[in-house]
Order: sequence, then structure tokens, then C-alpha cells
Amino acid sequence: MTDDDSEPTVPVACSACGTTTQVALSEVGDAIERHNERLHDGEQIAAVDPAIREQLSDIVAEDLDLL
Ligand SMILES: [Zn+2]
Repeated sequence: MTDDDSEPTVPVACSACGTTTQVALSEVGDAIERHNERLHDGEQIAAVDPAIREQLSDIVAEDLDLL
């Protein structure tokens, strides 16, 4: 798996940590869940950047649980 260019990434922002991380689209749901579970006791704090989320909804619609 060396085709890094083939997968789009989306920014995941966490207001509690003050961080924004680029995550591969196919992993973003897991990454958010892991982050929130490990760092925030399962609270839904980290999330896809809202502006990007709107764009994503056009592309992946309901494929992702987090929309
Ligand atoms: Zn966080």
C-alpha cells in the first residue's frame, strides 16, 4: 500500500485538544472514535471540520456515520 495519493484526507478538529489532524477519509470515523474514547471518555468532541463536512455530505452522503 504505497499509493498515498489515491486517498483524500479530511481535517479532524478537536476543540478540547486545540488540534487539527489530517486523516484519510476511509479512517476518519475510526480515528475520531479512538480519539474521543482515549482522550475524552467517549465524549463526541473531535469531529470533521464543519465546513468540510458539508462538502463531504455531497460526496459520501450517509456512508459515514459522523455526518
Ligand atoms: Zn481531543
